[in-house]
Amino acid sequence: MAEPIIALDDVGVRYGAHTALAGIDLTVEPGERIAIIGPSGAGKSTLIGVLNGTVAATSGTVTALGCDYRRAPPRQIRASQRRIGTIHQRFDLVEQLRTVHNVNAGRLGSWPFWKAALSLLLPRDVQRVRATLDRVGIGDKLHHRTGDLSGGEQQRVAIARVLVQDPVMILADEPVASLDPARGREIISLLLELSEEAGVTLIACLHDVEMALGRFDRVVGLRSGQVAFDKRRADLLDEEVDALYAFERASGP
Ligand code: ADP
Repeated sequence: MAEPIIALDDVGVRYGAHTALAGIDLTVEPGERIAIIGPSGAGKSTLIGVLNGTVAATSGTVTALGCDYRRAPPRQIRASQRRIGTIHQRFDLVEQLRTVHNVNAGRLGSWPFWKAALSLLLPRDVQRVRATLDRVGIGDKLHHRTGDLSGGEQQRVAIARVLVQDPVMILADEPVASLDPARGREIISLLLELSEEAGVTLIACLHDVEMALGRFDRVVGLRSGQVAFDKRRADLLDEEVDALYAFERASGP
């Protein structure tokens, strides 16, 4: 069996006195497609941050792409993190820039400074960017001002920015929460297709439970910072999903 791409062992994250994650064990094999669900505040975004290294675990061991985030040399950690692309609910694009520049931003971490600086004046690797935008269905938007694109198109630009990183894993933190349901379904389909065709591991936090259950074959339920279940979709019971949100419903409006 291949080395796991992710191995979390008893991972905890505390923000001051507040425990955001506790006792998280999670093993992910290369190429898996996993949805993470759970009520607001359950720790989903924190978990995504732990996986890409932007949030430091305060206890336990985080190993991503064979690299122990606490023990590996910084250079090795940076090299691993460059192969992990993250997509956010708010697309984090520079709206004033043309699409080509926002896509190339995905490569800034691997370019020397002079090349990165020059690329702002003279777009680099335009053919590659165009081909990537084609893959996400907006090849004709290469020179458009990013802020003029629709929400769905902007999320496609954000996906293209991740693809030029040549990722082995894509993390998506509520990638469709800002989109209407139809655009949201299209984006999830695109992410799943890209992941399948390139064998890229995909881990997505989703607010939309139906979408998570309908499209992903492994589902992790988080509640109060802990894993409530981690199951193949086919083995997951409706009661388990209901229980995940029970408190939110009981305390909701
Ligand atoms: P989710 O994505 O499931 O809504 P989060 O991971 O954003 O959950 O948050 C988990 C918990 O940690 C929440 O109670 C949240 O308020 C808290 N939290 C998240 N980020 C911070 C932070 N930077 N400082 C303090 N508390 C935080």
